[in-house]
Amino acid sequence: MNHRYFALECGVNELEKFMRLFRDLNGLGANFTVPHKESIREHVPTQSGAVEKVGAANTLHWSGDELALENTDVYGFKKLVDPWRSLIKSEPVLLLGAGGAARACLVALEDLGVPEIHLWNRTREKAEALADDFSSVPINILSDRSLESADFEFQLAINATSLGLEEGDPSPLPEVAVHPELIGVDLIYGRETQFIRSIRKNGSEATDGMNMLIHQAARAWKLWTGREPQIDAMKSAVKSKVS
Ligand code: NAP
Repeated sequence: MNHRYFALECGVNELEKFMRLFRDLNGLGANFTVPHKESIREHVPTQSGAVEKVGAANTLHWSGDELALENTDVYGFKKLVDPWRSLIKSEPVLLLGAGGAARACLVALEDLGVPEIHLWNRTREKAEALADDFSSVPINILSDRSLESADFEFQLAINATSLGLEEGDPSPLPEVAVHPELIGVDLIYGRETQFIRSIRKNGSEATDGMNMLIHQAARAWKLWTGREPQIDAMKSAVKSKVS
């Protein structure tokens, strides 16, 4: 296809300039990352339900003659946890983190019909603020002590913190909470984090966030081109870059 996808560095006050450039270049679409995922909303009024619920967008695309925003992280996360859909529907889930990624996970988990969420974050106030925005699913905010004593039931644990990005980072999930039936999902990709290591060491299943990365991109590709993405080609391209 006769298109180019390239990285642009954009200052925090340069989004208006970016939007002018995008139109001048006759852009087909764009992705946004930190710190623009929230502020881009001031520049594009047409926004999907997922953008409104998460409060952030990562994809700009054309919807007819109009530019629109989508949050494809929600879709990417649903694809990542697809093998455990029935478990999510029936058992409480432990979610670690309360940043932008955790918010996308919450929207997806709510859509998937999770019965209860145990939410822990280093800064408890942020977990409380996040929980306030989700009224249709019971959210139990965990204290550090509760996490450390693992005095609650859960089958699936999701690491949506950035703890694990650096080599040597500890797991946010204490060893005592790692039980034999536990399934671990880390949003960090391309490396075996301590979170994943400690769950696998216990003989349980754990996956990284590579599939979320691939599927959020695949969804954006579909919105831009109208064509079905070639997931296997995308997977091998990402894997060769990451390794
Ligand atoms: P963010 O908005 O900056 O949030 C960071 C989160 O990590 C917050 O909950 C923060 O807690 C927590 N945190 C940071 N350092 C910590 C530490 N030392 N100990 C405990 N908690 C710590 O970032 P985000 O956008 O949500 O991203 C979070 C992670 O998800 C990143 O690793 C990112 O790479 C990954 N991610 C992956 C995908 C994918 O496609 N696979 C997509 C999006 C994000 P406080 O509130 O206390 O600061």
